[in-house]
Amino acid sequence: MPDVFADLVGQDEAVDTLRRAAAAAAAVLRAAAHRPDEADELAALVEEVEVASGASGVSPGDPGAGMTHAWIFTGPPGSGRSVAARAFAAALQCVHGTGCGTCPGCHTTLAGTHADVRLVVPEGLSIGVSEMRALVLRAASTPSGGRWQVVVIEDADRLTEAAGNALLKAVEEPPPRTVFLLCAPSTHPDDISVTIRSRCRVVPLRQPPPDAVAEVLARRDGIAPDVARWAAAAAQGHVGRARRLARDPEARKRRDAVLAVPRRLTGVGAAFDAASALIEAAEAEAEASVAETDAAERAALETALGAGGTGRGAAGAIRGAAGQLKELEKRQKSRATRAQRDALDRALVDLAGFYRDALTMALRASVAPVHTDTASLAEAGARKWDAEGALRRLEAVLACRAAIEANVKPRIAVEAMMLALWKG
Ligand SMILES: [Zn+2]
Repeated sequence: MPDVFADLVGQDEAVDTLRRAAAAAAAVLRAAAHRPDEADELAALVEEVEVASGASGVSPGDPGAGMTHAWIFTGPPGSGRSVAARAFAAALQCVHGTGCGTCPGCHTTLAGTHADVRLVVPEGLSIGVSEMRALVLRAASTPSGGRWQVVVIEDADRLTEAAGNALLKAVEEPPPRTVFLLCAPSTHPDDISVTIRSRCRVVPLRQPPPDAVAEVLARRDGIAPDVARWAAAAAQGHVGRARRLARDPEARKRRDAVLAVPRRLTGVGAAFDAASALIEAAEAEAEASVAETDAAERAALETALGAGGTGRGAAGAIRGAAGQLKELEKRQKSRATRAQRDALDRALVDLAGFYRDALTMALRASVAPVHTDTASLAEAGARKWDAEGALRRLEAVLACRAAIEANVKPRIAVEAMMLALWKG
């Protein structure tokens, strides 16, 4: 039976660290159980267990040997940061202490229903302070299952400054049985504050090699090996994206449209048309992805507020309701913006892959192309532009991504990019 770490693709080193930490955490709980009056002195117990494990062949300073209250999982998008955090959460709640994958602790954690595991998935552009304060408060309670309170924060780089400060307080003085698992692209100060970083143990994940991604798609998702190989290469190490490309014809269609851009750029007018098409496709994709949730949330809120109610207190209720609806609309708008940016960024990553292929072909480098299905087009580009021209175009795509990340209006950034791609 595969354990909770089985889906962490190509991350042997990180898995090794997490397994040992989970074992140390289980040892801490066992030690605490024998001395109920000192059960809250976790820090002392952690230290003791680390020293003890040192005696049994693991050096005390070994970063993988111990357990700690706060962790950061870093790595490029799609490398499995949140998969790793959830798997580790499951291993901490595992009744056997190993992350067996089958016990109730593992099972409910992975299913998202464990009472002592809270998962924060930001839907908007940032995680706000009120959300974080509520979370920190609940995280301080005693775990109902007797093991750990685990808080998983996906995209911790989207914490607002105030939210980061609220989190920092909790990480600096952690409740004895609370573990924070943060996910961020890197430990760069832009992604995570230096003070939070200094309190956390870092688990770096790498971009999984295409072979490993293809293998897991075939094994776990039952995707035909040749399709899995193509999707793994086209997704450039992003496991979730590879699975979507292999399974979803709409996702493939959108990718085809993006990869048709280079041959459509025949003049200034065509460049602007291509920019509009790219932006509108991202908007449509984002709208489709949030429409259902938006409608369901609104219906649920209206039901909860008893829309159309009369009688005593109804006027006050309506005033309160207007505020809540406004709040919901604000949240939904923020989520829609995020979805649009994510969709556009996926398109830009695909496009960058194409120009990277042209560049490696111009340099006659012996690396496999990202997009095998447009390899001949990239080859033609390589002959026409040379390495320098291909590099300039690749840089134009990367500059567009950076500009959007820095809050330049997407349409302006994409138009500038298309003109640069056309002119070379
Ligand atoms: Zn288990």
